[in-house]
Amino acid sequence: MVEVSILPQVRDFMNRLNGQFINGKTVVSQQDEVITITNPATDEVIAHVATATSGDIDYAVDSAHRAFHGGWADVSPAQRGLLLNRLADLMIAHREELAQIETLTSGKLITLSRAFEVDYAVSFVRYYAGWTTRIEGKTVALSLPSASGEKYTGLTLREPLGVVAGIVPWNFSIMIAVWKFGSALACGCTAVIKPSEVTPLTMLRVAELAIEAGIPPGVLNVINGPGQQVGHALTTHPKIAKVTFTGGMETGAIIGTAALQSGFKRVTLELGGKNAAGFLPDVSPEKTVEGIIEAGFLNSGQVCASAERYYVHRSLINDVAEQLGKRLATLTPGDPMDDESCFGPLANRSHFNKVIGYFTRARDQNLTFIHGGGAFDLPGCYIQPTAVLAQSENDELMRQEVFGPVASLLAYDSVDELVTLMNDSPYGLAASLWTNNLSQALRLIPRVEAGTVWVNMHNYIDPAMPFGGTKGSGIGREFGSAFIDHFTEIKSVIMRY
Ligand code: NDP
Repeated sequence: MVEVSILPQVRDFMNRLNGQFINGKTVVSQQDEVITITNPATDEVIAHVATATSGDIDYAVDSAHRAFHGGWADVSPAQRGLLLNRLADLMIAHREELAQIETLTSGKLITLSRAFEVDYAVSFVRYYAGWTTRIEGKTVALSLPSASGEKYTGLTLREPLGVVAGIVPWNFSIMIAVWKFGSALACGCTAVIKPSEVTPLTMLRVAELAIEAGIPPGVLNVINGPGQQVGHALTTHPKIAKVTFTGGMETGAIIGTAALQSGFKRVTLELGGKNAAGFLPDVSPEKTVEGIIEAGFLNSGQVCASAERYYVHRSLINDVAEQLGKRLATLTPGDPMDDESCFGPLANRSHFNKVIGYFTRARDQNLTFIHGGGAFDLPGCYIQPTAVLAQSENDELMRQEVFGPVASLLAYDSVDELVTLMNDSPYGLAASLWTNNLSQALRLIPRVEAGTVWVNMHNYIDPAMPFGGTKGSGIGREFGSAFIDHFTEIKSVIMRY
């Protein structure tokens, strides 16, 4: 055991009453409506955060609006990139502090908080910083008729949209927020971020660091409170130009509709998935098991791109099930603040109860549990790493997104059946194909309905690769150059001379 000691600045941050971060300052307008933050590893109350009032929401959006019109869009692209890179430097300088706040709040293993919420998030900030000087329009050859020798020339300008509302879930509270505000700020927009009410703390600290980096007050604001009140008020605020959201499918439909109905705001939705991994018969049971662990058990399965449906050839499924059970038994629960822990709790009690509900119903349906299927007998939200043998593609565990450490295996007989089963979902975020046969993989990739298809890997995203869903997994793409389309408006300019 290598228990990490909590830094004094983390204790101070958790002990003070936090609230919102607006126009460069912490704002706590009310003491009576507070969110209580519980450490999911211990069930102990660790912090309180004041909920945003309607006045706070107006103040945040007005500040972002003033910052947009008062200069951020006019800050030179090179300077915007420099400031984002300075923020990245400060995030690295405060790596341990940010990682500890995140782990205490979300139960994420401290090693993952450092690697994903800081290091990986920083690589996204730097990627967006690199784009600031590369956002370009075009010159266009026109075909307008010329009656008496006049000529025409056309060009397109890329203009920032304005104030962006970023609504963020609880599974990666810094990294997913960076996807929202990094894209916004790079394009010259300003941002108001609403973290999940169960993980409201870490982004407050990042917003403080943005001020230290020299990003002007009002450019990056954070407000906290329940989604249905604070998130809804933000989404529908008349001065918001765009809403970018990551979270559940039902919430995405509500937010997308509300954003369109309140002034045709631009919308990007990243709505999770019921992602499939298909193992071709040439992959050994040993490799299949390691593939399942990689695809489904990172951050206890609380990753939108994780696989939850696993298709294994009928000739191999019993071997795979036996070896998977043994492998899952090695994922023993540990304190997320221990450097050596390999398996942590779920992020909050309500999600824990939801996952337990899936186990109860799977038992009622007589599904075979290969391993797990319950909670560990520990304080905190510890769920056993679990695998089941599904009976059919219609089992609840093959259709509903569990968002936990649960793998459901189903046998297939032919490659055509494999493709049909993989595509049999309202979702289409990500999928993986596992085979040593390159030709087979290249033929299958176009047939798989997903925004990302991995081959012999799963869950790796890269800032340079566009990311987003097909079908019910959402609208739009983050990262790559694709994000620019979603945070700028094209203005067409036509000139006669
Ligand atoms: P939600 O989709 O409910 O919440 C995501 C964010 O939206 C949170 O900040 C939430 O605030 C906010 N929100 C909720 N309702 C509204 C609303 N009407 N208007 C504006 N904002 C709103 O996700 P949950 O956290 O409840 O998780 C539900 C499911 O979503 C998970 O089980 C999983 O299936 C999926 N999910 C997918 C993720 C992904 O990465 N794609 C990440 C997390 C969850 P608050 O939390 O304060 O209510």
